[in-house]
Amino acid sequence: MAVSFDQWQYYIRTHVPEPAAGLAIALCLAAVDVGGRIADGERFGIRQGEEGLTESVLMELCRQLPLLEVRKLTHSEEVTEGADWEWWIQGQKKWFGFLVQAKRVSAPERGRRSYDLGYRPSSKGGERRPRQIDALHESSRILGIPAVYALYNEAGTGLRYSRPQYGRECVTPIGGDGITALGVNAARWILDHARARSAKVEMVAPYAFPWSCLTHCVTNAAHSSFPIPPNDLPEALGFEPDTPDSDPAYASCRFLLEIERAARLGQLDTAATNKELELWGYGPDIGRIAGAVRDAPPAYVSQDNEFEEIQPHDLEQAGIAPRYVISSPQPFSRARQSDRQ
Ligand SMILES: [Zn+2]
Repeated sequence: MAVSFDQWQYYIRTHVPEPAAGLAIALCLAAVDVGGRIADGERFGIRQGEEGLTESVLMELCRQLPLLEVRKLTHSEEVTEGADWEWWIQGQKKWFGFLVQAKRVSAPERGRRSYDLGYRPSSKGGERRPRQIDALHESSRILGIPAVYALYNEAGTGLRYSRPQYGRECVTPIGGDGITALGVNAARWILDHARARSAKVEMVAPYAFPWSCLTHCVTNAAHSSFPIPPNDLPEALGFEPDTPDSDPAYASCRFLLEIERAARLGQLDTAATNKELELWGYGPDIGRIAGAVRDAPPAYVSQDNEFEEIQPHDLEQAGIAPRYVISSPQPFSRARQSDRQ
């Protein structure tokens, strides 16, 4: 369903509870902005690169989400970036963290566009460095948190960048797929099947979701791309039993769970119906996500306290730290802190 961003924003404000609504809108604004920037860049001959686009995404998120904390890590020469950013989102009782690697869609080559998922950074000092996707996967394994690609897509190409829904409809507005999310495990599977360094948009789209579905689709079952989950899912993931869908840590955790699961099931049988997807359950995917549900974020995550000593990142030692660490504390925690002062 194609709706304008204004219509969609109104719809979200009236159907999705805060703080999930604010986060969904911020993500969607960033997606519309990125799609337009890439298109304008091509039109004016000022091609927009991944790094600049990532900076503009983080800037947009900071404008929209006043509590967002961004910490840029300074790395020694030897460190390969294992991810563009690591994001910790606070819910009512728990935090949820995941890694994000940005990947921009290519300019058309013989009419086709692709994502360079098999990118390998140039070797340093004669040493061959790991493929970016392997560094991302390794970072995810060491930290025990999932990883996704944020795919940056050019607006106005007429291409479909995200999956056709299983009979359910996400009401993502026009331009909302300017950024789509793809699980790292799905990306590895696609690369293996493409038997090439890059993967065509058409191959990736069935496994990708508009990234604003992070808090929109799971909070809004009537217009969601995702099946209705079992009642005990919050507990199975490590949340309190009565955690509401609008809890941003739970919502983002569910999103990561759903994209991993949809990719796994899609690999089994691309013709699976929605009914079958609901029956096949969540078991195999929960273990890969639940480790990222924590009582507190890791010590290297800045937490709005100017006196705290920020710890070096756990991945510095492994030589694959992310470029940014960002955290989204919730207003209630800020209130608690000022009570204490
Ligand atoms: Zn959605």
